[in-house]
Amino acid sequence: MKSELQKIDCASCGKPFETSFCPNCGERRLSEKDFSAFSLINDFVVDVFNIENKFWRTLKSFFIKPATYVDEYIKGARKKYISPIKLFLIANAWYFLFPAINTFKTTWYTQLNGLPYSFLTNSVLNVLSFF
Ligand SMILES: [Zn+2]
Repeated sequence: MKSELQKIDCASCGKPFETSFCPNCGERRLSEKDFSAFSLINDFVVDVFNIENKFWRTLKSFFIKPATYVDEYIKGARKKYISPIKLFLIANAWYFLFPAINTFKTTWYTQLNGLPYSFLTNSVLNVLSFF
């Protein structure tokens, strides 16, 4: 049984369509659920916290198999990964926006007592002290 959708004009590009998504630009047809409070909150959470999946794929590949990332990117896998320049700029932004990550200039006392992850540093030192 095929459900019939009413023909509407796309809110983004203005082209008429009868499907769930605009064939011209991909805009989704809205339903009554899209105007609920839950939907608005969900949209907010997705917009604020959603980072493209390819960012996480790139980061994972960069740390686990960096040669694979570089090799596939050079061979043309541009949809799968973000560009190395973009990755470099994001890393620089993190470095300057979150100085706590900047452990190269942090004193030994601060690393052991003043950072959110100081307990990890102490744990690693305790483990290393056995050797
Ligand atoms: Zn459209």
